[in-house]
Parts: sequence; C-alpha cells; structure tokens
Amino acid sequence: MFEGFVVFLFGLVLGSFANVCIYRMPRNLSVVKPRSTCPKCKSLISWYDNIPVLSYIFLNAKCRHCDNKISLIYPLIEIVCAVLFLLMYLLYGFSYMLPSFCILVFSLLVITAIDFEFQIIPDEFSLLLVIVGLSTSFLNVFLADTVLMRISQSFLGFLAGGGTLFVIAIIGKWVFKKDAMGGGDIKLMAGVGTFVGWEKVLFVIFLASLMGSIVGICLIIFKKISKKEAIAFGPYLAISSLLVLFLPKPSTIIQTIFMLEEQILLKYFFPHLQNLR
Ligand SMILES: [Zn+2]
Repeated sequence: MFEGFVVFLFGLVLGSFANVCIYRMPRNLSVVKPRSTCPKCKSLISWYDNIPVLSYIFLNAKCRHCDNKISLIYPLIEIVCAVLFLLMYLLYGFSYMLPSFCILVFSLLVITAIDFEFQIIPDEFSLLLVIVGLSTSFLNVFLADTVLMRISQSFLGFLAGGGTLFVIAIIGKWVFKKDAMGGGDIKLMAGVGTFVGWEKVLFVIFLASLMGSIVGICLIIFKKISKKEAIAFGPYLAISSLLVLFLPKPSTIIQTIFMLEEQILLKYFFPHLQNLR
C-alpha cells in the first residue's frame, strides 16, 4: 500500500517532467534548463507553483503574475503518468523490472502527446527504449522463463517490431509513391518490441492499424479531414503498446477462445459426443 503510494507520487513528479519534454522537445529546446517560465509574461515559475496537480488547483488554473490560463492538459498528463506508474507497480511489484517498465510507459505517454500535435516521434525516446529493453531483457520475467530465452525474445521483438513496419513502409512507398509510414514509427516499434517480445509487438501493430482505420473512417465520414490528409500513426502505436502490457499473449487468447468454443459446441450442439471423450 505504502509502496504503491510512493510509486504514485513518483509518477506525479515524472509526469511534471513529461510536460516539460512534451512542450520543449518538438521545439528543439533543452529539457534541463532554463527553469520553467510562464509562456506569456515570462516570469520564472517558483517551486511552490510547480507542484504537480496541487499548484494547478491552488492557482485556480492561472499564472500567479499574469492572467494567463494554464491548460488542463498539464495536470491531466501528471495524473495519467502517476496512474500508469501505479499500474506498472501492480503488474510487476516492487521488482527490478519496475524502473524499466516505468521508463517504457513514460516514453509512450510523451510520444503520444508529441506525435498527436506535431506528427513527430523524438528519436531519443525510441533509442532509449531499445537500449533499456535489450539491456534489462534478462530480468524480464514476462518474456520467458529462462534468461537465454528472455534475451532472444527481446531481440526477436526488436526485429519483428521494426522489421514489420519497415517492410510496410517499403511496400507503401512502392504502391502510393509517397511515404506512407514514418521512420519514427519503425524505431518506436523496434523499441517496444524489446520489452514485449515478437508476438505482442505484432499484436500492437495489428491493434494500432485497427484503431487508426476506425478513427480515420469516422473522421472522413464526419468530414473532419479529407481522405488525403495524413493521420499520425504514432499515437495509436503508443496507446496499443500500453494496452498490450495488460493483455495475455495473443496465442493464449486464441487458445482460450478455441477452448471456450469447443466447450460450447460440445455442450449445446453435440452433447452426444461429450460421452466419447
Ligand atoms: Zn504569466
């Protein structure tokens, strides 16, 4: 309980840092310095006005020095980050894997926000994911049982994630005569693959395509965008990656469906066969 609370607080603080990354990275500004200022009156934001969520409430969503409104997005990102960290704690416990999976969800959160607004995925995050995913793969109990299997699963995930999108990008370019898939998406999936293995990373791509198509069709139907306008794929990839962390392996899901189907068929449609087993 106490551990979970500490992880949640830590998530709030890192969520605040996520806001800094989301604002500064696409604008090519340093995420370390200078200290945060109000975008309107440029006055420095003191530490007591920079406390995650609480400052937003106490300041009544306004800058202390001018009447500039602070966007609701900031506390929302902080809360989402804290909830994701807490979920990772519930999944993995207070283990060696917790820091690396917190890095994964933190990166996915920042990538979703940046790609949604700017249609770019910062290479720094994809590279970070590849390095952390591969180097901690031997501890990743969710990949396989033995150390050797975990390392090879992680490497296969890297190849399957990056390779699949790379092939799609080449085919897309050949068919549509323009870039259908960004290099950022390819690197992101290579990174996510090192954490979740080949099976799940393929499922991530499938899920993201499905979500992207549904949203894309809806947007076209409601005339929000024209057919030619590109829709960023990155946010769907990142959100699907988060979802897949909580799902069992695709092969297990398929197995369970087959088992249930067999039971239903035997029970309701072929009850006379039940005695033969
Ligand atoms: Zn201000």
